[in-house]
Amino acid sequence: MEERTELNILGEFGLIHRIASQQQFSHARTVKGIGDDAAVSKGNTDYQLVSTELMVEGVHFDLSYVPLKHLGYKLIVAGISDILAMNGLPTQVTVSIALSNRFSVEAVDELYAGILTACEDYEVELVGGDTTTSRSGLVLSVTALGTVEKDQIAYRRGASVNDIICVSGDLGGAYLGLQILEREKQVFLEAPESQPILAGHEYVLQRQLKPEARLDIIKQLRELNIVPTSMIDVSDGLASELRHLAAESGLGVRIFEEQIPIHQKAYLAATELKLGPFTAALNGGEDYELLFTIRQEDYQKILDQTTDISFIGFISADPTEALLITKQNEAIPLTAQGWEKQGE
Ligand code: ADP
Ligand code: MG
Repeated sequence: MEERTELNILGEFGLIHRIASQQQFSHARTVKGIGDDAAVSKGNTDYQLVSTELMVEGVHFDLSYVPLKHLGYKLIVAGISDILAMNGLPTQVTVSIALSNRFSVEAVDELYAGILTACEDYEVELVGGDTTTSRSGLVLSVTALGTVEKDQIAYRRGASVNDIICVSGDLGGAYLGLQILEREKQVFLEAPESQPILAGHEYVLQRQLKPEARLDIIKQLRELNIVPTSMIDVSDGLASELRHLAAESGLGVRIFEEQIPIHQKAYLAATELKLGPFTAALNGGEDYELLFTIRQEDYQKILDQTTDISFIGFISADPTEALLITKQNEAIPLTAQGWEKQGE
């Protein structure tokens, strides 16, 4: 009898690892294959970057509360964010869609209005894609292309001991926005005549429905002549992305709870939802902020000349260490859930 292994035994990362291990990267142009935010290919003088994202209805989005225009915008943001995470500049995107006859031409127009608005905002061009039929839900895929000079590239790997861990913007908002939308969906299902109570939560809703990729941060770092020693985008939650950076560099991480940037409106939403705001920041996803490390000597430059970057910790020598130092000065493993009291 043929062997059958369930997918959940491997998990997503295990599966990707398995696929990667079946492939050897020997093409003269391949600089980095599977395993970073984008693949890296040798151009004439610079590097070419390419990254793909797939979004499936019912898994990544719910059309009962996500407007198609926002969905299109977010698709492009998700694609571009991985190019930025290599310290690259996005240039073009291709978008592929699988549609059922549930969608009208006007609905597709809405989707593309969002896609094209994002393309304009991020200075990229939509140069191709594929269109096909779906029997189940809407499926969207984006492939983002970009470039980076060879001496400017930032991989997930590359951090050194005592490098400072930085993160742009604030975290947890997108996850909390999703929880607000889910709450209102449940209320609506139980009482369709009721109106959703979204007032006061505009900020976290915007973080979920219309996130932005941090092209501005990449431009600022260039102006300051800073190349991060390692970088990743925060699509799956801070804790998971920190573990990627640490594992790839073969080092440890220590971050400080009180340094984690959380928006005042995220605290408000968390309190209302009886969720821990720091748990949302650590384990929620889709913030599309940039997490990176810098050398100690670059610290002052960032401190003096940028506003939207927080210093949350540093890289440590022990590769088994991934610690969160709480406000009470306790060191707890970053994998730990539930140290934070709900709704505080
Ligand atoms: P991100 O969250 O930055 O999009 P992922 O966790 O999706 O990164 O992917 C990690 C790495 O694995 C990337 O280099 C990606 O290209 C690669 N990857 C993911 N799925 C596959 C696949 N099915 N085949 C080959 N490579 C894959
Ligand atoms: Mg990424």
